[in-house]
Amino acid sequence: MPGDLLSREEGTIVKDWGGRLPIALVYPNSYYLGMSNLGIHAIYKLLNSRKNVVCERVFWEKENREKYSPPLALESKRPLPDFTVIAFSISYELDYFAIVPILRAAGIPAYARDRDERYPLIIAGGPCIMANPAPISPFFDALCLGEAEPMVPHLLTAISQGMTARRDDLLKALTALPGVYVPTHHSGETVARQRAENLDDFPVTSAILTPETELGEMYLIEVARGCKWSCRFCLVSTAFKPMRYRSLDNLLMLAGEGLRYRKRLGLMGADVSDYPHLEKLLIRLEEMGAQFSISSLRVNRVSDRVLEALVRGGAETITLAPEAGSERLRQSIKKGVCEDDVLRSMERVAALGVPQVKLYFMIGLPQETDEDIDEIIRLTLKCKAIIEKKKSRTRITLNIAPFVPKAGTFFQKKPMAPLDVLKQRLAILEKRLSAKGISLKAESPDWSQVQAVLSRADAKAADVLASVDRVSLSAWRQAVVKSRFDADFYAHKEWCQNQRLPWGFIS
Ligand code: SF4
Repeated sequence: MPGDLLSREEGTIVKDWGGRLPIALVYPNSYYLGMSNLGIHAIYKLLNSRKNVVCERVFWEKENREKYSPPLALESKRPLPDFTVIAFSISYELDYFAIVPILRAAGIPAYARDRDERYPLIIAGGPCIMANPAPISPFFDALCLGEAEPMVPHLLTAISQGMTARRDDLLKALTALPGVYVPTHHSGETVARQRAENLDDFPVTSAILTPETELGEMYLIEVARGCKWSCRFCLVSTAFKPMRYRSLDNLLMLAGEGLRYRKRLGLMGADVSDYPHLEKLLIRLEEMGAQFSISSLRVNRVSDRVLEALVRGGAETITLAPEAGSERLRQSIKKGVCEDDVLRSMERVAALGVPQVKLYFMIGLPQETDEDIDEIIRLTLKCKAIIEKKKSRTRITLNIAPFVPKAGTFFQKKPMAPLDVLKQRLAILEKRLSAKGISLKAESPDWSQVQAVLSRADAKAADVLASVDRVSLSAWRQAVVKSRFDADFYAHKEWCQNQRLPWGFIS
């Protein structure tokens, strides 16, 4: 209920529409998930910081999905066609399934070719789009290949000037902007991905505080963008190159702001452990009376003082991501972590009595064998033995994700493992580890296969997405057959060196 949600929010921006460019910021999933996504907060704040813009949020809730009811903007309760621009922010490939239903429920044709200036301009951005926009490109007038901060000013100027013109003229104007990909007007030229040079120029924090979301008790602050490591499967390290940090002064200023709303700060980034002033930052935050959590940590990279500060700061869970059980496989994925690092980290975490350690592993990595699964079990049990020896209260849980080849990564041409192999290896892990009292959470191999298809697919996948009538595996598979789409090629085939890449035009 929009009214209920708004009444529990702090920081909502409600603007008068008069004379302003109205933009609907669409998160194609629920409010609960969307409001834990720092990207949504950042874009909401960035767009509303412009005097001539009014930006309102739109979510796609279970009720909308089940009844195909048109989503309304949270702030004004207006339907999507009332807006001049509809901007999708998409983080995960599986959210592609919501694009067509949202547009159709709003009475807007799903394909860009069927729309003209009578309809809102429909654009999108997000990490998976920066990597490979092809599978959803037929639905959008323009796609933003890069970070929003440097792109938004140019986009807004072009849109403000061109909204009254013919749609074709506006789209032609958009093709001239750095990082903007206009599928209907693209003639194969390179599009350069855009990035913010200096994070301090763009504060990225919680814009709206609400208890109705997973990280609702925290004020989120972006510490770093990108990752200096180059794990060969990882999208973050390639899409957000180069690694950038905020200055210590900037972070302390943002923390001071955040502490007005929440006692607990969430320090966000793919690689916060390598932040050069981490120790100083945490000490200063403690002095300011803050509690804090870090979104991801390479425990082997942080000092005992940092770990102790984190535990004092209320960290309940520490995540370790060996990704593979054997040294050989970890080296082949360039994880940069050896077994000793994992065991030493476990000793430190157990000694501090951190309530939970999550171990992240992938299965189906290139070159993986059955022995590598045995190695995951062996390493996990070694970790458990350390906890038992220290008589620590620490509890281990395993998170298992199938390897999915991602566009733009070193492994982009590698195949995803066959489903039966993944399921068999998962069953072995579940059986042998649950017998030792270790709980395991795994991503579905079937849905990971869909994700793999959408990660590497070209524009033909759009027809499949457009003919999925409800989000289920059977509906997807029926649509694949109906559209004569070769899903196997995109998920499970090793691509040769000269394979033409659907995202090959992005530099
Ligand atoms: S350390 Fe994590 S974020 Fe960095 S490249 Fe490796 S998997 Fe990606």
